Amino acid sequence: MAKVSLRHIYKVYDGKVKAVSDFNLEVEDKEFIVFVGPSGCGKSTTLRMVAGLEEITAGELWIGDTLCNHVEAKNRNISMVFQNYALFPNMSVYDNMAFGLRMHKVPREEIDKRVKGAADILGITEYLNRKPKALSGGQRQRVALGRAIVREPSVFLFDEPLSNLDAKLRAKMRTEITRLHKRLQSTFIYVTHDQVEAMTMGDRIVVMKDGFIQQTDTPQNLFRWPANKFVAGFIGTPQMNFFSATLTRRSDGSVEARTKGFTLVIPAEHTYRLDEKYLGGDVTVTMGIRPDDIKPVSRAAPGAQICASVALVEELGTQTLIYANTDEGQLMNENSDTAFCASAGENTGITAGSTVEFEVDTSKLHFFDEQTELSIKRRIPDVTVGAQVKGGRVFMLGGALALPPVLASELGEGSYDAEIPSRALSFAGEGVSGRVEETEELGKGRYLSRVLCGNDRVFVVGDSPLSVGDKVCVSVAFEKISFLRGREEVISAIPGEMKLNGTYVRLKEGREKNHYIVAGGVKIPSPMDFNQKMYDRGRSIFKRKLSFGIDPAAASLGEEGVPVTVDKVLDYGSAKYAIVSLGDGKLCVALEGPVPADPHIKLNFDSIKVYDSDIDMRLF
Ligand code: ADP
Repeated sequence: MAKVSLRHIYKVYDGKVKAVSDFNLEVEDKEFIVFVGPSGCGKSTTLRMVAGLEEITAGELWIGDTLCNHVEAKNRNISMVFQNYALFPNMSVYDNMAFGLRMHKVPREEIDKRVKGAADILGITEYLNRKPKALSGGQRQRVALGRAIVREPSVFLFDEPLSNLDAKLRAKMRTEITRLHKRLQSTFIYVTHDQVEAMTMGDRIVVMKDGFIQQTDTPQNLFRWPANKFVAGFIGTPQMNFFSATLTRRSDGSVEARTKGFTLVIPAEHTYRLDEKYLGGDVTVTMGIRPDDIKPVSRAAPGAQICASVALVEELGTQTLIYANTDEGQLMNENSDTAFCASAGENTGITAGSTVEFEVDTSKLHFFDEQTELSIKRRIPDVTVGAQVKGGRVFMLGGALALPPVLASELGEGSYDAEIPSRALSFAGEGVSGRVEETEELGKGRYLSRVLCGNDRVFVVGDSPLSVGDKVCVSVAFEKISFLRGREEVISAIPGEMKLNGTYVRLKEGREKNHYIVAGGVKIPSPMDFNQKMYDRGRSIFKRKLSFGIDPAAASLGEEGVPVTVDKVLDYGSAKYAIVSLGDGKLCVALEGPVPADPHIKLNFDSIKVYDSDIDMRLF
């Protein structure tokens, strides 16, 4: 039983082919995790790095409490099941299962107990004396599973184990593996390109593309809250329909979604998560509608109607898929931006060539930025609200808040847009008052509430359940908010991390060899532990272009260290920051006290992040 942590894991082949980038995942003990994505997206490579069959280029792999990057595969206490069962053809099923244990010098009685126990779990007891060639594909796959089980590993890894089986057997083995997971109470990591397999088996799913994680979440959340267009299109069959659309917020709060072939009206209560920036009617977005959310009806509700000509009808027993197009001239062009697929029950009586009225469930529409393809309807949205600065106070979210000194001096009187990420809001401390309109559980003791503050709605994460109608106080962390006038950012949120470009050098000084990072053109001596980590990267580290990521808490100002000039002090009352120039680079530093007369910077090397700029990779 073990947790598995993958922290900023990268795999680069031959110094240039990036197969996996910045892979971060905490697999809980006893969790069933599935990696899914199209062929070549890096899922097998990631799994093989966990197994120890592939070297990890950068990042850390922890299994339980052990850093495993350099632990040999056989000592990681994991078992792997492959697509090709890799059974020894000349050995019996029993011997195939016993082989690994014999190699590990497990006593004979113990081997017998474990092999028979596993055979019993898998229902292959009667085949123990057969050779693999006398078994069916499904039975062979069970033997491969048995061989993994007898080792009693803390983590099971599966690499497309069911791809060689026919559809019916695959479905059967799917439920068997799920049952096996429940019975063995171990951590499972399972790779597949089949989203149905992923959705039916995983506690959580990691969706990958081009070596990057696109989203990690439960099957239900991936389906309801896809983070981007790729996940939206990849999860769910038949695929989500996509349309180009413009969105306009109407005076009654509803939002009109206009496409080439039809116009929908989304009632106000389903629009609060939409990013307001896209609702001016002047930005083209991508709208997504799942086939299940478009139904043929005799009379659609106003604002939810699509009229279209039917190109093709597929009867699938209890389900009927209707391929239609709002542009009759494009009927045979399924890639036209007016084509879609709708799903209905049996016996619809709908035939190709007819014109049909459809009704859309407007509460379930999805929207994506056309360029970035990121969802603009997030589960925990960041919001932009109007703010008026007057007399040293800011009037926003229906309240009047005292401006911290930096904002009082930087923001002249007038109107602004305040960009408030959800992490800037909490129920702790003083703030504006609001009323809970909706609340839902996020899991792990976290709750999300939609709160009406004045005329604005915000989403606040808290750790106790609330009820609709509850009066609450929402506090605002000003250092996490940006204020804009028009499109110009007048004051930005304090950055999480600032990067300095540089290199790493070793200099012979007298009798000593000293190590430095050169950041912003300034030499800063680096301590032993840090040098050790750099040397772990190999000698080429001295030749590489690097950058150093330093967050405000990873640096401090004092009388000692490297001299800097302080450009600006940002006084947020409860917290103070300084923007400093270090050579030709800039850093943001959290201030513990007043700025020293002759300021010097000290870096906390334990928390500095080092990036290889040449191939855009975090080294540690
Ligand atoms: P998946 O399992 O998602 O199909 P892989 O993890 O097998 O994808 O591969 C990810 C990427 O890494 C692919 O682009 C593949 O071509 C590349 N790759 C895999 N193995 C090697 C290798 N030994 N040398 C170079 N590139 C490789």
